[in-house]
Amino acid sequence: MRCPACSEDDDKVLESRLSRGGAAIRRRRVCLRCGRRFTTYEEILRDSMLVLKRNGSLEEFSRAKLENGIIRSCLKRPVSMRRITSLVDGIIEEMDERFENEVPAQELGDAVMRELLKLDEVAYVRYASIYRHFSNVEQFISEIRALRTADTAISESSGASAERGEGAERRGEGTERRGEGTERRGEGAERRGEGAERRGEGAERRGEGAERRGEGAERRGEGAP
Ligand SMILES: [Zn+2]
Repeated sequence: MRCPACSEDDDKVLESRLSRGGAAIRRRRVCLRCGRRFTTYEEILRDSMLVLKRNGSLEEFSRAKLENGIIRSCLKRPVSMRRITSLVDGIIEEMDERFENEVPAQELGDAVMRELLKLDEVAYVRYASIYRHFSNVEQFISEIRALRTADTAISESSGASAERGEGAERRGEGTERRGEGTERRGEGAERRGEGAERRGEGAERRGEGAERRGEGAERRGEGAP
């Protein structure tokens, strides 16, 4: 490794340590010419991992992009960077195991939401509000309820949740096509969404009627440009 101080590429490893639960190795090195100490970081290069977007296009998987979305959702929440790093590691490992090299964007997003739901509910709602591109509050509330129900159902019956998952996937198609430009609007929706969440909890207690109206609104939402 080339020395950052003198550019000599002759160094000695002083210490190797596993990092991030074995997903990476940190090496402390010393330059044999000038004595400068520096650290290198080694991890598996997942250069074959691609994300298959809803519109059929492929893009390179970016750990930074995934991690930044999660960090943004966790701002000012009692979640450490360590927890976020390990959450990202877990998701990447899961995607790596489940898919050859093309990871459907929907699966990636669902995995993030599932893990965020376990980590911090506010972060989960923020992420969901950006990721799902909601067009109105009813749709938002309805989707959050559906996800929470699906999450509970996964531990009870994987078959039933898989059927619901297909439905959610079809609903997702319309929202994904609206694309990246909606992200900025999504941030506004996020701030409104936090208020909506508090109101939403009240609405939830008012029960099933609100959910049925929400589903209707969702179907109307599909046709929206
Ligand atoms: Zn040196």
